[in-house]
Amino acid sequence: MDDSRFDESGLGEGGEKRALNLIDLNVFQLCTTKGNHIMTYQIYWNPVLETLPREIIRQLQLKKFKNIFKWTYERSKFHRRIYDDAGLTPEDIRSFEDIQQVPSVEKSMMRDIQRKDPFPYGDALCVPLEEVAVFRQTSGTTGQPVYQPDTWQDWEWWAECWSYILWAQGYRPRDRVFIPFGYNIFVAFWAGHYAAEKIGCEVIPGGVLDTKARILKIQELQATAMMGTPTYILGMAETAKMKMDIDPSKLSIDKITCAGECGASIPSTKRRLEKAWGAKVYDHAGATEIGAWSFECQAQPGGLHVNDALFLVEIADVETGDIIEEPGKRGKMIITALDRQAQPCVRFDSKDVIEWADEPCSCGRTSRLIKGGVVGRADDITKVKGVLLAPSAIEEVVHGVDGLGDEYEVIVDRVGHTDQIKLKVEVLPEAQDQCQLVESELADQLRLKTNLRYDIEICGCETLPRYEVKAKRFKDLRKKSQED
Ligand SMILES: [Zn+2]
Repeated sequence: MDDSRFDESGLGEGGEKRALNLIDLNVFQLCTTKGNHIMTYQIYWNPVLETLPREIIRQLQLKKFKNIFKWTYERSKFHRRIYDDAGLTPEDIRSFEDIQQVPSVEKSMMRDIQRKDPFPYGDALCVPLEEVAVFRQTSGTTGQPVYQPDTWQDWEWWAECWSYILWAQGYRPRDRVFIPFGYNIFVAFWAGHYAAEKIGCEVIPGGVLDTKARILKIQELQATAMMGTPTYILGMAETAKMKMDIDPSKLSIDKITCAGECGASIPSTKRRLEKAWGAKVYDHAGATEIGAWSFECQAQPGGLHVNDALFLVEIADVETGDIIEEPGKRGKMIITALDRQAQPCVRFDSKDVIEWADEPCSCGRTSRLIKGGVVGRADDITKVKGVLLAPSAIEEVVHGVDGLGDEYEVIVDRVGHTDQIKLKVEVLPEAQDQCQLVESELADQLRLKTNLRYDIEICGCETLPRYEVKAKRFKDLRKKSQED
């Protein structure tokens, strides 16, 4: 039965436990006296935490931040050095203004302390080594991978974070979830897998199967949901259509959770994904060092909910470092995982570029929304000919032009003293006789949306690289030529 984890009183075992943890904040009573708790238990994974009034969420965040700061201060020599240098002790954290004084941690700092004792994590480890139950590492897209230890409690926490995501996207016990992911050393969809099991879905691990075998398995077992990077999910649809004569929109998949890239929050990419699969497509942003901190809900509000009962997200001005509270102003994300213990994530400078939305979501969750998802990384947003360019803006244009394939590649270079941008695209077989029209539409849209001119190269069908995990489509050769 749908929503079978709840008994008639609306207090399922898990819900009751979670609520009791908050009794000191009186929120349990507040939620159960609303009179609509049976209904809300069906809509939200955690109806208590997901509908807390904002001021209570802030109280909860402050309380949890104090706890995780104290935990980290007392157990991590790495963090203790940083906090001692800043002259901060746990007693100094009394308000959100105090939190802003806590130095942030960058990925490069974690790299520097690792591969040392306690091996291989180094002295940010806050638990005895024998309590570490899970090893994962970052994908290494931006340099040497960072190792991530988790205790069994942390791993349960990962699954809990993902349960919010999947429940909000309509996953229910009746779903049969196919995971087309090469279960490897990166965290990627591992926690999504466990959360789907925790919710009560039936989970099919697509592990070592190739793309064609995965599609056949979805067809055979009539899977209803799946998870993947937007690039790979689009690539699967292309393989089904071009190489197997299968229309993916006629398969049984009705919802897809995308992560790893920002595509599912880029409107034109989302449209392509939803059309190809005849399914609702939802975005999620998370990271190995952080956890699964955000999700798009079924209302598809054009952005991501921050799971702010479990995470504290701050947005900092890239130039000044000042914290941005108002909507509509972009900055980089500084994030704290409020409950993660083995290798804590306290004011981690993620370099993800985000901005607050100003509208509450119609789904009724009271958490703050990130407008348009993660727009890019502060490292990737670069100046070309003096104009700020986010790679996601190019994707929005390419995927919005009919007749173009899903793949593309951007190469920025400097010839003499002038920046040049080459954009490689594929024209679909059915649009080959309208190549010039497609190209001029692309050039016009690019100029309009990004204020830049591009040297466009039309490539043969299926000649650009295909990716299973994170695509590497944006190359800035200017840094290299400077080094040369
Ligand atoms: Zn919502």
